[in-house]
Amino acid sequence: MTQQQALVIGAGFGGLALAIRLQAGGYHTTLLEKRDKPGGRAYVYEDKGFIFDAGPTVITDPSALEELFTLAGRHLSDYVKLLPVSPFYRLCWEDAPSFDYVNDQQELERQIAERNPKDVEGYKRFLDYSKAVYEEGYIKLGAVPFLSFRDMVKAGPQLARLQAWRSVYAMVSRFIEDEHLRQVFSFHSLLVGGNPFVTSSIYTLIHALEREGGVWFPRGGTGALIQGMVKLFEDLGGKLELDAEVANIETQNDRISGVTLQDGRHFATDMLASNADVIHTYAHLLGKHPRGVSHGKALKKKRYSMSLFVIYFGLDMPSNNLQHHTICLGARYKELIDEIFNADTLAEDFSLYLHSPCVTDPSLAPPGSSAYYVLRRCLIWAPHPLTGKPRGRSIVIASSTTWKSIIFPGCESIW
Ligand SMILES: Cc1cc2nc3c(=O)[nH]c(=O)nc-3n(C[C@H](O)[C@H](O)[C@H](O)COP(=O)(O)OP(=O)(O)OC[C@H]3O[C@@H](n4cnc5c(N)ncnc54)[C@H](O)[C@@H]3O)c2cc1C
Repeated sequence: MTQQQALVIGAGFGGLALAIRLQAGGYHTTLLEKRDKPGGRAYVYEDKGFIFDAGPTVITDPSALEELFTLAGRHLSDYVKLLPVSPFYRLCWEDAPSFDYVNDQQELERQIAERNPKDVEGYKRFLDYSKAVYEEGYIKLGAVPFLSFRDMVKAGPQLARLQAWRSVYAMVSRFIEDEHLRQVFSFHSLLVGGNPFVTSSIYTLIHALEREGGVWFPRGGTGALIQGMVKLFEDLGGKLELDAEVANIETQNDRISGVTLQDGRHFATDMLASNADVIHTYAHLLGKHPRGVSHGKALKKKRYSMSLFVIYFGLDMPSNNLQHHTICLGARYKELIDEIFNADTLAEDFSLYLHSPCVTDPSLAPPGSSAYYVLRRCLIWAPHPLTGKPRGRSIVIASSTTWKSIIFPGCESIW
């Protein structure tokens, strides 16, 4: 019997993981990536000896990665070394001391007690709740596809027991009184594009997930994990094609038969999966098929999640006094998040996330130097549906000298 051919579009984490599974499962798999390097949102920029991970920096649940390598008969540690990150995050405010979000119960309780002694008991109850949601929502339901209303109804009783109709922030507030601590334990849904004041409290499971599995960073940066996955795929016999932009998914007798690339090359296939953005896949790549047209139209009516600006920069000094992940929250939390998700303008004030990977792995910058990125969330940078004009005005990353001195003491001039 000839080996079946599979094509996967997009060499981001999702496409790579699927391609590895298919190749390990005996399908002859080709991964098609339009850019010059794999990674997708986890692309890597390099300049003057500095290495910048473009996107993801926080790895939670390393067991999911272990599982991928194990099913392929290999060991994750032979391909990439994961380094523990502690504290997981440092949270800063202009009007309060910073909070080091660590995986140490005593140290967490000490910091909580300093702000509001009553919140220590509240936090313990929140942790119990988060663990229960993690059990139900991640361990039991994490791999269940919710493809129909019936699937949702089946999970209904569990979700009702966990009060999944409440928002993340509302649920945290049931346990914790102090406003800064409420932010510490509710910001996580922002990491997955969700508004903590709207997103279901199911997402509080991220807290238990992090406490259970830790937060990790690959030696050599997130790009080293991408390289490890590419190597695994190729070791198994898979083929990665770079600079291979799919222009059209072809069908024959209502079944997918292959793809044509922008440069005219053609690949036939028995099966295909696209891990490019879903609207792009249906509306453009499958745009000649009636299903692509109808799905594309329906998907275009959905709301995008928020977008963000990222600035990558290097300093000719080590990352002294910094932590790997620093989250600086402005004076307005709910109001700013409301504006990020709902308003058409870019707020004057801001919250930001500073990535300082050299704290964990100094090899990402030349000796004595350090690499960073700073990220600010905003409404999607896309044309307004009615006016067609870009939304948002200008980018103001850091106007406050207080922030500069909190983050980089003595370096106020770097912005
Ligand atoms: C700034 C930032 C920070 C983030 N931080 C974290 C974090 O700390 N932790 C975390 O878990 N997640 C984080 N995320 C989210 C995470 O990066 C994404 O969920 C993940 O990388 C998505 O992977 P993917 O493979 O699904 O898609 P993508 O990475 O978008 O991959 C899709 C790929 O398809 C390719 N493609 C598209 N169209 C075509 C075509 N026509 N032909 C061929 N190829 C095509 C693209 O070039 C791309 O490589 C972050 C995201 C961003 C942007």
